[in-house]
Amino acid sequence: MRVVFLGLPGSGKGTQAALLARAARVSHIATGDIFRANVRDQTPLGRTARAYMDRGENVPDDVTIAMVRARLQEPDAAAGFILDGFPRTLPQGQALDRMLEDLATPLEHALYLRVDIGAVVRRLSGRRVCPKDGAVYHVETQPPKTPGVCDLCGTALIQRDDDRDEVARHRIRVQWAQAEPLLPYYAGQGKLLEVDGAGEVTAVAARVSAAVSG
Ligand SMILES: [Zn+2]
Repeated sequence: MRVVFLGLPGSGKGTQAALLARAARVSHIATGDIFRANVRDQTPLGRTARAYMDRGENVPDDVTIAMVRARLQEPDAAAGFILDGFPRTLPQGQALDRMLEDLATPLEHALYLRVDIGAVVRRLSGRRVCPKDGAVYHVETQPPKTPGVCDLCGTALIQRDDDRDEVARHRIRVQWAQAEPLLPYYAGQGKLLEVDGAGEVTAVAARVSAAVSG
């Protein structure tokens, strides 16, 4: 099985990608993990990426693509993979197709987890963190015992600027504007599967696995 996951940031695609990979017994390849591993092991690509990150700049596509290519050539990926966090743009999607063609392992499905942007924003904007120890709460789904106060240390909880409603909505829109052209791209290849991402994790997982095996 060779699948990429697409969806809004915060759609739960990371969780679903991990569940599908476990069920299908293939590797879950998350770009965040690839980045951390390259930086930690101080590979040449990791050092290059680190230099951009240290300057607060985005890591260029060719560096990201080279990291993904190296990861896809590791032995465990030969049996299949679920890619999560890549591609994020149409040029990355085209580069992925070229590298998979070189490896003679074309992509089978692009799974789009469809969620309402309002639901994602509500989830982010309800998040509260403890500035002292980093404990994370949610006003609706994981409230502290005393409203507004950390269970662990009693410090007043804060809302990170990134999680404020309008900031979160803007960030999600900007990121998704880059990724959205991938939908018609994969639809044109007959590879796009669209799954309703609303509801319980297990219910969504059941829809995902029905879609890929259907
Ligand atoms: Zn605390």
